[in-house]
Amino acid sequence: MTKVFSSEYIIKAFNMLENEHSKLKRTEAERHAEILGKFPEYGELEEQLAQTARDIVSVVINGRIEDRYEVLEKIKNKNLSIQKKMTDILVNNGYDEDYLKPLFYCDICSDKGAVNGEWCSCIKRAAIKFAAADLNENGSLCTFDDFDLSFYSDKYSEKCDCVPRETMKKNLEDCKRFVEKFNGTGSGIFMIGATGLGKTHLSLAIANELIKKGWSVVYNSVPELLRKLNSEQFGNSDGDTMRIITDCDLLILDDLGAEHNTEYSSSVVYQLLNARVAHNRPMVVSTNLEMGEIKARYQDRIWSRLFSMRVLLFYGTDNRLRTAGNNW
Ligand SMILES: [Zn+2]
Repeated sequence: MTKVFSSEYIIKAFNMLENEHSKLKRTEAERHAEILGKFPEYGELEEQLAQTARDIVSVVINGRIEDRYEVLEKIKNKNLSIQKKMTDILVNNGYDEDYLKPLFYCDICSDKGAVNGEWCSCIKRAAIKFAAADLNENGSLCTFDDFDLSFYSDKYSEKCDCVPRETMKKNLEDCKRFVEKFNGTGSGIFMIGATGLGKTHLSLAIANELIKKGWSVVYNSVPELLRKLNSEQFGNSDGDTMRIITDCDLLILDDLGAEHNTEYSSSVVYQLLNARVAHNRPMVVSTNLEMGEIKARYQDRIWSRLFSMRVLLFYGTDNRLRTAGNNW
């Protein structure tokens, strides 16, 4: 299943940042060598500048308190005049005055990748880009436009007490509206219906649209996510999956109910849902389970969170069977 913005994308983003940073450091070094080669006096000024720094330290440590201020002031003026001479060499020879300033790929974090203990926006942006690239590879066919309503019967069905095509048209519109109004907060959508009725298609279409708009979207099946969390918690693999799925703008959980039915998995599912609800962060959850099965399987605290979202019921016959030519 397609993964979006999982820890591998964060690692890729950090690698990208490191590469870009190294490239810029090489450029810096080349520029420096170029200027020293052309203007040897620039190197002498650099040496003088370094000396003023050493002088300042020496005055602070050894200088007499009475005339410390005066001496420091003198050094400061000397320092400024050296800097001015250095800038003049550049400017008088047709260079930009910032030609030898340190270069950073990201001015916000100076290429550290984090600010105040949070990922910098440059990392998030890059992770989204990598994630979107993968998503497009795997789910490029999933857009709202190619969601084909003609797959669904336009005849009244007693089983669902509805006309499936009409219900699905409404579901499609609800998903489009969810994207239009999306602002990174709120509850989300809970899709219920048998396999092959278009839940994954609409989830991927939502992900595609939101990624295009610059939102970070995590898309994972519940069993896969549990495996990943389990190996991070108990195995050797390190990662920050829990943090990513808590922090991303939209979490799409596919195939709820396909995970092993254990107390551990239930508690992790609850943790996932709760983390999102507690931060007022939206989700799109889908399940093949029927309404009764959901209630039988999950404790109140889980299904009350699931049913606090907009519930979309999917009706019809498995699209994949239909495309394979089966009668229905
Ligand atoms: Zn940054």
